[in-house]
Amino acid sequence: MICLGKKIDHTLVSRDTIRAFVKRLGEEIHRDYEGKELYLICVLKGSFMFMADLIREINLPCQIDFMSVSSYAGEKSTGVVKINKDLDHSIAGKHVLIVEDIVDTGLTLNHLKSLLSTRNPASIGIVTAFDKPSRRKVDIKVDYIGMEVPNEFIVGYGLDLEGYGRNLPDVVVLSDN
Ligand code: 5GP
Repeated sequence: MICLGKKIDHTLVSRDTIRAFVKRLGEEIHRDYEGKELYLICVLKGSFMFMADLIREINLPCQIDFMSVSSYAGEKSTGVVKINKDLDHSIAGKHVLIVEDIVDTGLTLNHLKSLLSTRNPASIGIVTAFDKPSRRKVDIKVDYIGMEVPNEFIVGYGLDLEGYGRNLPDVVVLSDN
């Protein structure tokens, strides 16, 4: 049992597949930012595992920071973002890359990107491990995508169900029994 009486129904993305796309993303980012320094922002909590793997595949000078936001998207159609933990340092003049676990409706990321853009970074990009394009509500440019996934609720590799399941090395779909 993983949590809340649920068990693994099936594995959607194996750890080997994840390892392969993280390596590819590292190469793409290296190619695009060659000669520059990167400032990677991990959006807590779901992205912590992806961030840890990704930075080891980026062979460039980089710094990391962490941010925690919650979205009121369900309550307000505009999707307002509340900052629970802000960045430790200024991003002015820096090449910022937001590291996300999954882009779903895109509302949270859309607002986070707008917010960070007001802080005058040299550039701002987005990298996500997983993408659910079928659920998108806003037209947001995601610069680097690990893998597209179908419209299923996934758990593992940092992604949770009510706080559980982040420790699973593969990405799975749960079932009730
Ligand atoms: P959105 O793009 O809708 O604003 O929100 C994205 C956030 O919703 C992600 O960062 C993640 O926390 C959560 N989310 C979306 N889809 C899933 C999913 O399939 N599994 C899990 N565990 N979280 C998801």
